[in-house]
Amino acid sequence: MMKRALAPRVAAFAAYLAPAFAAPAFVAPAVAQDIPSPESFFGHVMGADRELARWDRLVAYYDTLDALSERIVVQHVGSSTLGNPFLVIFVSSPDNLAQLERIRAWNATLQDPRGHSGAEIQEAIANGKVVFVQSYGLHSTEVASSQTAAEVVYDFATRTDGVMTQILDNTLSILIPNLNPDGNLIVTDWYDRWVGTEYEGSSPPELYHHYIGHDNNRDAFMQNTVESRYAAQVLFRDWVPQAFIDHHQMGAYTARIYLPPYAEPIRPEADPLVWREMAWYGAHMAYKMDEAELPGAIGSAIYSGWGHFGFHWITPFHNIAGMLTESASARLATPLYVHPDQLRGSRQLPEYEAQTTFPSPWLGGWWRVRDIVERQIVATFAPLEMAAKNRETVLRNAYNKAIRQIERGHEAEVRAYVIPTVQHDPLTMRKMVNKLLDQGISVDQATFAFTHEGRVYEAGTYVVSMAQPKRGVIRWLLGRTFYPDNSYTRDPEGNPIAPYDMSTDNMAEFMGVRVDEARGEMEADLTPVYVVVDPSGTVSRGANGYVLDSRLNDTFEAANRLLAAGASVRRANGDGEGFRAGDFLVAPTVEAAVVSEIVEETGVDFMPLEVDPTASSYPLTPQRVAMYQRYYGGNMDEGWTRWLLEDFAFQYTSIMDADILAGELNQRFDVIILPADSKAMMTGEDRDDDDMSDVPPEYRSGFGEAGVAALETFVENGGTLVTFAQAGTLVLDELDVPVRNAVAELPGTEFWAPGSTLRIRVDGDDPFTYGMPSDALATFLAGGQVYETLPSPESEEVKRLVTYVDRDVLQSGWLLGEEAIANRAAVVSVGRGSGTVLMIGFRPQHRAQTHGTFKLLFNALIDRPDEPARVAAGGAPR
Ligand SMILES: [Zn+2]
Repeated sequence: MMKRALAPRVAAFAAYLAPAFAAPAFVAPAVAQDIPSPESFFGHVMGADRELARWDRLVAYYDTLDALSERIVVQHVGSSTLGNPFLVIFVSSPDNLAQLERIRAWNATLQDPRGHSGAEIQEAIANGKVVFVQSYGLHSTEVASSQTAAEVVYDFATRTDGVMTQILDNTLSILIPNLNPDGNLIVTDWYDRWVGTEYEGSSPPELYHHYIGHDNNRDAFMQNTVESRYAAQVLFRDWVPQAFIDHHQMGAYTARIYLPPYAEPIRPEADPLVWREMAWYGAHMAYKMDEAELPGAIGSAIYSGWGHFGFHWITPFHNIAGMLTESASARLATPLYVHPDQLRGSRQLPEYEAQTTFPSPWLGGWWRVRDIVERQIVATFAPLEMAAKNRETVLRNAYNKAIRQIERGHEAEVRAYVIPTVQHDPLTMRKMVNKLLDQGISVDQATFAFTHEGRVYEAGTYVVSMAQPKRGVIRWLLGRTFYPDNSYTRDPEGNPIAPYDMSTDNMAEFMGVRVDEARGEMEADLTPVYVVVDPSGTVSRGANGYVLDSRLNDTFEAANRLLAAGASVRRANGDGEGFRAGDFLVAPTVEAAVVSEIVEETGVDFMPLEVDPTASSYPLTPQRVAMYQRYYGGNMDEGWTRWLLEDFAFQYTSIMDADILAGELNQRFDVIILPADSKAMMTGEDRDDDDMSDVPPEYRSGFGEAGVAALETFVENGGTLVTFAQAGTLVLDELDVPVRNAVAELPGTEFWAPGSTLRIRVDGDDPFTYGMPSDALATFLAGGQVYETLPSPESEEVKRLVTYVDRDVLQSGWLLGEEAIANRAAVVSVGRGSGTVLMIGFRPQHRAQTHGTFKLLFNALIDRPDEPARVAAGGAPR
């Protein structure tokens, strides 16, 4: 099976790998004068007031430098989400660039010494180069770094001083000059459109990554977007550098630039040297700032070392010194004036005053993009200078980090994680194995059945040993996680401080995959898994067609594609011979070619249906699905949901305010989704800020009371309205349902579950929950809702479809006040008139990561049978 979404990735990487490992083509050495400066090429210095270089021109500049400089190799590794070029730039001495493959091999030996002799390791330390990756432009409204990168590459190409010579000789820099090329175009074009007007400097109305906006730094461990896959290919598999820095911007009113190391708390289980290296690089960055009289640098503050598993926070567990810089922002490319009394402290900077980690407070005044560019250039080169001067130490550290993590894995209590073949959704389990391989993690597979700690595992069971360099990554992706609760994570009044923004990143829990901890020696015959696990499904036709198992997420894609192909598909609403309630039943008339293509691409088995299923099933018609989209920077939860619906072949229509206000919604749609969002952001009323004043009027969104009324009519007339998390407030406040949010008013000390996995129990007999296991995990973020049924003559209209368990609710993350949610509903459906509101209090599709609860969304988008009780009662509106 070759899943459709994966095909372009594989093709792109094949094209990308070839030039990386071939000797780069050289032109005749150019003298520095021939190489155009950014100022001469773009007509302004990088970071000039009100000037932003567009990605297409930046690409042209990089290609020019590639042609003119023997120190620069620019690779076009593929296309971005919207089809723009994605670049990776290699920088080193000409001699080094001529032997990239040898450098890569030495690096690989040190980063994973398994199977290498002492002599090979000594050779790699003696001859290797420090591999250092830096990336820019990930967050597109943080405009400076995409501009900085051009000046950085120019400096690499033209500087002739001794420090640069040492850097070129002893290091290999891999630059990702823009991690989100599409976003540079979106933001630059928006800025240029409004510069010189009263709306100059306002943020664009849409997500600056087509699907996921600012969340594009939350995708490193799942790699759903193509941009993440390109970066992961460099960082986790092809190179695994010694260090990585991602250059960002933060708010405008504290330090001028945050530099490594991170503040407290840190996430444990990385090799300690990685934290020491970050402090070491960061100290030199900070030193060079003050040497250059660039005030306002701070380290060991603001950004804690425990954050979501984005690239800079996951890399330490790959034994990479994974770092972040965060410069204070202006207003896109417009200067910002900052008064001294606007400057304030932050985490581990209690007052805006000098301290050891912040000896040169900036005193206020104009703040410009050029100020950021200058700091980012220093932050780029200072750590390279350290790495170049200490090449051998850094490379020996690389070996030490890897070998010590392997040794810890041999000695640890948990020696391995076992992924059994017997799973609720084996196809999703295979996707998880592929995601582990995408991290460059070694995965083995059992050739024969084996027994461990009393459990019997079939042949084909996957085993992930902890005795490998990436032990730290494995521990956090597969092991149960408890976020620290201590004085670093509480304020002086005892209120919990929000993590950044998840308190667990357990991939197995998000995906609903069973993983067992294995302690002690395992006796199993294991072989390494080298390639993507991608089997095809099987086909066996019965007298009445086929059965598709509704426990598999991919079955929903198969059903969608069958319906799109015109096949006759029914859904079981009771158990029958050879099928269960929820299964999809496909008539035998479907074309064989359609079946074989779907089987190949989804991996779903088409099993024989022998009996006539009519009595316990109903025919499906494709539902007309709409999802609300707003302006005001876009809504990432909406964007992720779009990504997910497309990945599973659901047809949908994005609707905006005007579409809702046009009314007659039932004539156009069967289902409307309100992704997680505040009521104020949806309606445009009662916003708690006045930021709309700098937004051009045509982009001030909100559907107001009239929109609420249109949605209410839609439900009354038979529509299905689906809300995720805080979007439920609109229903609770406006639609008169006998349900309240039990955690709405609770302070953090009484209820707190920031990005945690919570144990839920699922009533599997309802069409909204078909295919779900009875025990599952919900991913709960701050702002999520928990439902309590209110005393009401209409309480029979409420169905408690999913509830939190009665005790030990926390699986991973951080939970305070479990009594506030124990036994309460996580998901309810409420009948209203002829229609239904489905309120999912957590995020069933969070960042397209929570495969374990996708079906709660998918079922809502599938035709449901008429409900006998309500039909008997005439289905009359109340
Ligand atoms: Zn950022």
